[in-house]
Amino acid sequence: MKTRKIEAVLSPRDPHMVGDGFRVHNFIPSMYPLSRERMSPFIMLDYNSKFYFPPTNQPRGVDVHPHRGFETVTIAYKGSVAHHDSAGNSGVIKEGDVQWMTAASGILHKEYHEKEFSAKGGFFQMVQLWVNLPAKDKMSAPKYQEITNENIKRVTLDNQDGEVEIIAGNYNGMNGAASTFTPINLLNVSLKKDGKANFSFPENYNTALLVIEGTIIVNDSRKVAGDHFVLFENEGEDFQIEAIEDAKVLVLSGEPINEPVVSHGPFVMNTREEINQAFEDFYAGKFGKL
Ligand code: MN
Repeated sequence: MKTRKIEAVLSPRDPHMVGDGFRVHNFIPSMYPLSRERMSPFIMLDYNSKFYFPPTNQPRGVDVHPHRGFETVTIAYKGSVAHHDSAGNSGVIKEGDVQWMTAASGILHKEYHEKEFSAKGGFFQMVQLWVNLPAKDKMSAPKYQEITNENIKRVTLDNQDGEVEIIAGNYNGMNGAASTFTPINLLNVSLKKDGKANFSFPENYNTALLVIEGTIIVNDSRKVAGDHFVLFENEGEDFQIEAIEDAKVLVLSGEPINEPVVSHGPFVMNTREEINQAFEDFYAGKFGKL
């Protein structure tokens, strides 16, 4: 197997607020070269780097908004988020949990800091990733996978180097918790100082990582600090990461969906007509009530 080389290492750009609760650095799609086409099936990645929110009795967040045509995946590293949606689902995403929401034909939801977390204040760190759906699944029924940390399968690495949590896909023969519409590997890797982990994904899968904590060395050569994003080339399959201090890394790899992408705000479809339809349906109240 051939080594997959680094294509780009990106520092986080200036943060912006999503609502008043999420202070995020956008990587996909606004940073070159992380376009939706280059990163497919990953069409958006917002990273709330570790940030302290002072106590408040008015939970911060994003009020009711729609989504259609894709999935939102929320990965909580610090702090907790409460959510409610128009399909009647609600819950709290706590440290280490993942919420995998398939908006598909359309959903309304709101995302807020959980009440108790808000009242105490504290450090908040989170990733929100949007995963595109193939045209044939874009108008399927919305669904929701609540993946609590204790339900995430883990591979323990040799030599007590750390562990790999498999959110979706496969690592070393073990399958992850989430069901996906197209092949995706999404892994949370925890490494102790000097710990190493190896990865191998099909060459054509778009593959990247985000360093959540600590500093790592990629392929024995490139040092990458916390909050930095690494995009890999689509030549070769294998890469390695090594922690030079205790580290946590989000690894993402997915088979590209080779279909046109037309998006406007919270709607991601294949044609302009489908975007117009999404707005019509939204204004007509077809996304339900919240
Ligand atoms: Mn949302």
